[in-house]
Amino acid sequence: MQSKRSRLLLPELIRLEALIETFPTRVKATELARFQSGTHAYPSYLIELAEFDPAKPSLLLTGGVHGLERIGSAVLIAFLESVLQRLEWDHGLQHQLSQLNLLVLPMVNPVGMANHSRSNGNGVDLMRNAPVNCEEKAAFLVGGQGYSPRLPWFRGNPQQPEAESQVLFELVRQKLFQSPFSLVLDCHSGFGQVDRIWFPYAKSRKPVPHLAELYRLRQLLFDCYPHQAYAFEPQSLHYLCHGDVWDYLYDESLHGTTLFLPLTLEMGSWNWVRKNPFQLLSSLGLFHPVKPHRVKRVLRTHLTLFHFLIAATASHQEWRRALYPRMLRQEAMELWY
Ligand SMILES: [Zn+2]
Repeated sequence: MQSKRSRLLLPELIRLEALIETFPTRVKATELARFQSGTHAYPSYLIELAEFDPAKPSLLLTGGVHGLERIGSAVLIAFLESVLQRLEWDHGLQHQLSQLNLLVLPMVNPVGMANHSRSNGNGVDLMRNAPVNCEEKAAFLVGGQGYSPRLPWFRGNPQQPEAESQVLFELVRQKLFQSPFSLVLDCHSGFGQVDRIWFPYAKSRKPVPHLAELYRLRQLLFDCYPHQAYAFEPQSLHYLCHGDVWDYLYDESLHGTTLFLPLTLEMGSWNWVRKNPFQLLSSLGLFHPVKPHRVKRVLRTHLTLFHFLIAATASHQEWRRALYPRMLRQEAMELWY
């Protein structure tokens, strides 16, 4: 058992374990790994709501890859709390969730979260650690650097990825690549005025082979929720980097027969910093909205997006049937490339 102090540093873990205990028959929690930091070991739980069925499409939600961006874990745990409460009585939701595999990995990098650091316990930035190189000019430092783990964006050794990276690789290979269709939403928090949904590539300005599908998904979101405020775009519009996990896994998926579309949610935090400049003084405040009413707003804002992704995964055959790939690809090329 860990000391009280280490648990206090990780309120998200306390909340997640409470959830697992509260819904023992509904929640299937698997400890995928335990990461050591000093004398403490932190579990990384995969949450599922049913036995995995490879015949069904899959949605994977991840958070806490960057330890400072703990709002990503918080939104996922809040989402799970809401879903589990509703499953007690909501037949519509029970039916919808029976159409897919819903997988939630809320704390990819618990040691980073406990240490209040972006990187993992070895000083490695897990979003620069995959064995994939930028094909054009990566952003200086931010794009991944091999100089020192004391500087941010350290790549580590991409030929021997960190344990946290390997957990993600194996989870995607063993579950998502077995599904006929899968979506990922990896929840981060970053700069910017708006909430952004990014898709690969981060390694290149070249469009991905499944640009039409991604553009269609964006159309669905914008048509169904015209008042939402997400930007939906390729990551390469902002900066290029080495070692992006989702670039790496997306490219690997191209060798198989399944369709795998990874998305990253970058929750805008600059708005909060502008409203409360004192947050700049704290490393946590920079990437995490500190005022309770702002946290509450963020926790409820993205529920709609999560439920949209559940529907888009469950009914992927419907919206993919009505796809005009050449036309959509052309529109997407004009918009972004
Ligand atoms: Zn991040």
